[in-house]
Amino acid sequence: MTVVERNLTQEEVDALPFELNLSDGHAFRPWTPAESEMLSGSARFFTESDRRGGQRAEAEYIRRYLALGAQSYLPGHFTGLMSYSASMAVEMVANLLRMRNLSAALIEPCFDNIADILKRHDVPLQPFPETAFTDGPAALERLLGTLTADVIFLVSPNNPTGTVVGEEAFNRVVEYCRTNGKLLVLDGCFRIYLSDDEVYDHYGILAASGIDCVVIEDTGKVWPAAELKAPFLSVSPNLVGAVSAMHSDFLLHLSPFTVRLITEFVNLAEADNGRYLRELVLKNRELFEKTVPTSFLSTDDTRKLGLAWLKVERDDLDGEDVRKLLAERGVQVLSGERFYWASPHLGRQHLRMALLRDPDVVVRAGQVIAGLAEELGDGRSRR
Ligand SMILES: *Cc1c(COP(=O)(O)O)cnc(C)c1O
Repeated sequence: MTVVERNLTQEEVDALPFELNLSDGHAFRPWTPAESEMLSGSARFFTESDRRGGQRAEAEYIRRYLALGAQSYLPGHFTGLMSYSASMAVEMVANLLRMRNLSAALIEPCFDNIADILKRHDVPLQPFPETAFTDGPAALERLLGTLTADVIFLVSPNNPTGTVVGEEAFNRVVEYCRTNGKLLVLDGCFRIYLSDDEVYDHYGILAASGIDCVVIEDTGKVWPAAELKAPFLSVSPNLVGAVSAMHSDFLLHLSPFTVRLITEFVNLAEADNGRYLRELVLKNRELFEKTVPTSFLSTDDTRKLGLAWLKVERDDLDGEDVRKLLAERGVQVLSGERFYWASPHLGRQHLRMALLRDPDVVVRAGQVIAGLAEELGDGRSRR
């Protein structure tokens, strides 16, 4: 019998009906009072929708979204192409790479669908371990010295670890792409979670370098809009012809209702410069950590995202063992192996848990996990 391996999103779909579902990283947090009020009046966004104003509304949305993320808005350089999902943006990039016979160095770990989409288009892949960004400039130089791929594909901050490509490292990668004629793809879907002192101007640096690049943006991991979202690709001048022709095969334009709704969410976040968004995930993280003993699960991430990357601190249990034990007790999380698309064993001891939830759900899931830790007792005395 063939064992069909299920991907992470298939597991997330199965977990959707469960109350204590900490599986997917989408936004299922409560609305703020201001967001609730905006939503109550949102029927008029539907009746006011007008295709004739769609392009202007998209440009305004992109401008405000980038401003919230402290990015330069450079419509003379980057063309913004709206998408239904960030994965569809990745699909377009993968198509482009296949058509041009390009190979890619993809960050590891990362969410498995990025590697899967690229593989499905037969794009040859080389791992770009994120230790190149955490082990200092010499580690990055060593890695760049071994790169043979035509394209560098990064996710920053990265899902699941929250690892950030710092400004100095980003400048170095861009310079490397410029001198070696490489294309850069940057997935910036989690940028909003960076504080003022961590964020820097990706768009300004990329435009000044003149390299070929695509930046992928998303709102689905930030705003609870019942899966309505306004992702987009920012495409550099030389790639616009190829990418926009392909883009037009997929969609005419995004719903003006969605664009308006998400713009309103962005405007509300602008009022406090995104602080509420960052504080909510930090608060949920603290609630969780207060409940669960670190002798069972320890935090192994940068504490930046609405996701926790946890290490199972037991010799007798790996991440998948604990995932199953928790599923039996009604708590849905993901185990770590499939995030390491080239070297799965590196994720064996890990779990990924979503924090963008109602604080009550986070606390109750934490209590179940603490109960499991107690049930299991001391790791060394078991088995
Ligand atoms: C979730 C995610 C995506 C895919 O987003 P969808 O809009 O759900 O397709 C892409 N990139 C990263 C880094 C993600 O975390």
